[in-house]
Amino acid sequence: MRHLASLVLAAAVASGACTQTPAEQQIVDDAAEAVGGAERILAVKTLVIEGEGSNGNLGQDMTPDAIGQTFTVTDYKRAIDVGSGRVRVEQTRTPTFTFFQGQQPQKQVFGVDGAVAYNVAASGNATRANDVVAKDRRAEIYHHPITILRAALDPAATLSNPRTQDNQSVVDITTPDGLMFTLAIDSTTKLPTRVVSMTDNTNLGDVAIETSFADYQDVDGLQLPALLTTKTDKYTTAELRVTRQAVDAADAGDLAAPAAAASAAAPVPPPVMVTVEDVAPGVWWLAGGSHHSVLVEFADHLTLIEAPQNDARTLAVIAKAREIRPDKPLTHVVNSHHHFDHSGGIRAAVSEGLTVIAHKASAQYFQDSVARPHTIVPDALAKNPMPLKIETVDEELELKDATRTVNLYRIAGSPHAVTLLMAYFPQERILVLGDVYTPGAALTPYAPNLMENITARKLSVDRIVPLHGMIGPYGDLVKVVQAAKPAAAN
Ligand SMILES: [Zn+2]
Ligand SMILES: [Zn+2]
Repeated sequence: MRHLASLVLAAAVASGACTQTPAEQQIVDDAAEAVGGAERILAVKTLVIEGEGSNGNLGQDMTPDAIGQTFTVTDYKRAIDVGSGRVRVEQTRTPTFTFFQGQQPQKQVFGVDGAVAYNVAASGNATRANDVVAKDRRAEIYHHPITILRAALDPAATLSNPRTQDNQSVVDITTPDGLMFTLAIDSTTKLPTRVVSMTDNTNLGDVAIETSFADYQDVDGLQLPALLTTKTDKYTTAELRVTRQAVDAADAGDLAAPAAAASAAAPVPPPVMVTVEDVAPGVWWLAGGSHHSVLVEFADHLTLIEAPQNDARTLAVIAKAREIRPDKPLTHVVNSHHHFDHSGGIRAAVSEGLTVIAHKASAQYFQDSVARPHTIVPDALAKNPMPLKIETVDEELELKDATRTVNLYRIAGSPHAVTLLMAYFPQERILVLGDVYTPGAALTPYAPNLMENITARKLSVDRIVPLHGMIGPYGDLVKVVQAAKPAAAN
C-alpha cells in the first residue's frame, strides 16, 4: 500500500505545474553544486592526494576497545583514476608502540585495478591480493566526495532513502556496478561530510566503513577535503591530513596493476590442515597452519587452548580434537588474548557449544562478538545461534582434576596486550603461549617481560609449546632474553 501511495504521489508531482526534483536527487545535486558543479566533477580524470597522518591497529591493540596504538604515516600518496577504477597508495608507516615486526619505518605500496588488487613488497615484487581485498579496495575508491558524486550523478545509479540525521542530509546510492553507499552532506554548506559502506569482518561481522571529510579547500575550482578520517565500526583506522592535492596532475602516474599481479590468478586460502603432535600423555599440539592450538585431556572432558583465525581453522581443529578422543566431550576453549587473529574462531567454538575461558578484560568483547549480526557473510554461529558461556580469569585460574593440572596465568605488564594468558603445566613442565615469544623469530620484543612473569611465578619450564612457530626448549627463550639485555642497556 505504501508503494502504491508513493506512486500516486510521484504521479501527482510529475503532473504538477512545477516539477519538483525528488529529495534523493536534490541531495546529490546540492552536494555537486557545493563541490564545484556536476560538469566540473564529471570532467575530473585523476586525483592525487598527498599527506600525512596515522593508521590504527584494528583488532591488535592493548585491549579490545583501545585505539591508542597507532602507526605514524608519512610520505602518503594516493592516486586515483576516477573513470577506470584504478587506485594506487604509497605510504611509510612507523609504529609508535612495541610492534612485533620492529620499530623501523615500513614502506607500503598497494592498489586495485578493476578486479585485480595487488601489494608491492620492498623488493619491488608485486603480488596479487585476494578477491575479498579487491572488493574492499574497489569500495574504498568511492570514499571521496569526487568519486561518490561522479557515481551518484551517473544516470544508471539508484538513489534512495533521503533523510535527515544530525543536521545532515543523507541519501543511499547504488552505483551502476552494484556497490552500495550512504552519502551524508552538511545541511548548510551542502558539502559531503561522510561516505559509509558495509562490509564483512571475520571478528566483528557486519561493519560500517565510514570516511568523514572536513577542512574543505579550493583546488582548481573544486572544494576538496583536507582532513579525511576512516573508521571501521567504532574504531578509527586512518586519519589523513592532506598537504597537497591535485586534479588531473601529471604525477598521477601509471595506475595499471603491475604485470606480475595482473597475470596471476587471485589467491585462494590454502586448504586447512591440522597436524597432531604428542607433547605429553594427553596433551596434543594441533599445528599445520600459521596459528596453532593445544588439546588437553582431563578425566572426563577435553579442553582446547585457542580457537584462532576463523571458522574454517577453528572448526577443523575442533573436529580433529574430537577425532583424537571421541569418547570424551570437548567442553572448553581457552583464549590466549583478544587479538583478532587469535579470537577469530571463538564464535565457531561457541556454535559448537564450548565454554570460553578468557581474561576478564576480554569478557565484554566476547559478549559483543557473539551478539553481533553476521548477515553479509553468515558464519557458523549466525547459522546456529548459541549463547555465550564464559569463565573469566583475573590473575590466575587453576584447571585441575585427579589427572591433570593446568594453571592459567595472566602475563602482567606485557606491551603486547593486557588480556594475555599463558598455560603452565606443572607436571609436564611445559608452557603454552602465543605472540609474546615465538621460537626462532627474528625479533622477540615481548620476551623480556615474559621472562619476568615466568620468574615471578617461579615456574619450572622445560619446553615452550607456542601458538606460532615450533616447539622449542626453554633454554632458547633464556638465550633470547639474555641477548636482548645489552641492547636494552644502550
Ligand atoms: Zn597478539
Ligand atoms: Zn599471533
